[in-house]
Amino acid sequence: MPALTEKKRPASRSAGRPAAELIFGDLWTFDPAPETADPKLKSRYDLFIGGKFVAPSSGKYFESINPANETKLAEIAHANAADVDAAYAAAQKAFSTWGKMPGKERAKYIYRLARLLQDRAREFAVAETMDGGKPIKESRDFDVPMAAAHFFYHAGWADKFDYVAPGRKVAPLGVVGQVIPWNFPLLMMAWKLAPALAMGNCVVIKPAETTSITALKFGEIIADAGLPPGVINIVSGFGDTGAAVMTHPTAAKVAFTGSTEVGKIIMRSLAGTDKKMTMELGGKAANIVFDDAPLDQAVEGIVNGIFFNQGHVCCAGSRLLVHEPVAAAVLAKLKARVRTLRVGDPLDKNTDIGAINSREQLDKITELVASGVKDGADLFQPAGKLPGKGYYYRPTIFSNVTMSHRIAREEIFGPVLSVMTFRTLDEAVEKANNTAYGLSAGVWTDKGSRILKMSTELKAGVVWANTYNKFDPTSPFGGYKESGFGREGGRQGLLDYAKLI
Ligand code: NAP
Ligand code: MG
Repeated sequence: MPALTEKKRPASRSAGRPAAELIFGDLWTFDPAPETADPKLKSRYDLFIGGKFVAPSSGKYFESINPANETKLAEIAHANAADVDAAYAAAQKAFSTWGKMPGKERAKYIYRLARLLQDRAREFAVAETMDGGKPIKESRDFDVPMAAAHFFYHAGWADKFDYVAPGRKVAPLGVVGQVIPWNFPLLMMAWKLAPALAMGNCVVIKPAETTSITALKFGEIIADAGLPPGVINIVSGFGDTGAAVMTHPTAAKVAFTGSTEVGKIIMRSLAGTDKKMTMELGGKAANIVFDDAPLDQAVEGIVNGIFFNQGHVCCAGSRLLVHEPVAAAVLAKLKARVRTLRVGDPLDKNTDIGAINSREQLDKITELVASGVKDGADLFQPAGKLPGKGYYYRPTIFSNVTMSHRIAREEIFGPVLSVMTFRTLDEAVEKANNTAYGLSAGVWTDKGSRILKMSTELKAGVVWANTYNKFDPTSPFGGYKESGFGREGGRQGLLDYAKLI
């Protein structure tokens, strides 16, 4: 590795001149640091129904590719309505025993799922990164450990339901249908399965088309844990598969995480039924920086807020609202920091921004960025080479954005930040809440009173203060307005899988 190079090193820092800026990127090259653990992929994944892997009744399979290099990873079974029927029948049958099992017995199985996932953590992290494109340091340090944490936490609840709704008894709902997106495939699966199982429900779950591999690998863990057949059934597919899971007459409840657009279609199709619903939908969060904020920490929080997981995050801080007195300073620091981000091979341990999940998503990001340029916002993208093959996008910052621009209103779901300014707290609140969404927000300030004021004024399910993208299984997560309803995590999340009796 060449020595760290500094541009125009000043003779002395105490000479009153600004400290030297460290230039990474072109001047400081990293040796490759590939993660080499074996993801133990099979060439073909079948459906997991009734405790076994079974071929889809249509005989059809689709390909899952690695978005980092566009190579095929595996064939995935495409479930049709008959397979979804079979999955619901298996779940219904399993519910007659699982639903009545004492909580402390159910807990043992759920603990086992958590421990087996921990045992195979590195393998799952590599598989997740290869199938979805996220940097290995994120799947290794966030997705997989957090998925295990959700199983541990909910296993802990399974024998304590006398305390979940004081003075009331709780009972499972029955069979639950669940559909999840591609941005946190294993983690979203854990968010959905753990509370449902702890409460005594059985599940039919569908992963997203582009990221089914870790869900189906989790089928191996379910079998190894000795979970009674049918308690969890995994039906991969696309097109009509999701609708078949959501509208099945056996489902007592459906839980969906995905776009607001699809959430609305599902809600329309279920109008008039008595199914319970949880909808975790899109977002367009404001990350708000006041002039008294610790600016360097805020810049780290802004970077984490928008570039974590390539910005494929429902709660991404995609709108930066900066207090006018510090706007120029924050933007300058932010650009300097973004120049140091490493975009490239997701399996490299030094990579900060991996591959965009699919060509379709890359096209959507490209189109929205073009609209920002056309609307007159100022575009900043750092220089640097992107890999020749695969789906990549440079971290992007738009300044001079107005509230009417599409990039300020629509969820881009990519590494694109829209920067706006404000003069007063009221203006910040007004701008932050001026969106159809209400999933999350961030506030950066030195004043506790201002944090409290902002967290009551902001219409968002979670408000982070002087941090961003912090998750914990004990903490309920969910939206207001078009970001959906129902909560996942904590006592509130459990109650969404229970009936009170
Ligand atoms: P999506 O297009 O809505 O798809 C989500 C899931 O729904 C996929 O499994 C999809 O299957 C399935 N689906 C598509 N059409 C369906 C239908 N008519 N009926 C039932 N299921 C259907 O969303 P996405 O692009 O995968 O994910 C990105 C979105 O998820 C973003 O808007 C993001 O904000 C949101 N999200 C929200 C949260 C949260 O907690 N609020 C968390 C993560 C993501 P196919 O893949 O087979 O099409
Ligand atoms: Mg894939």
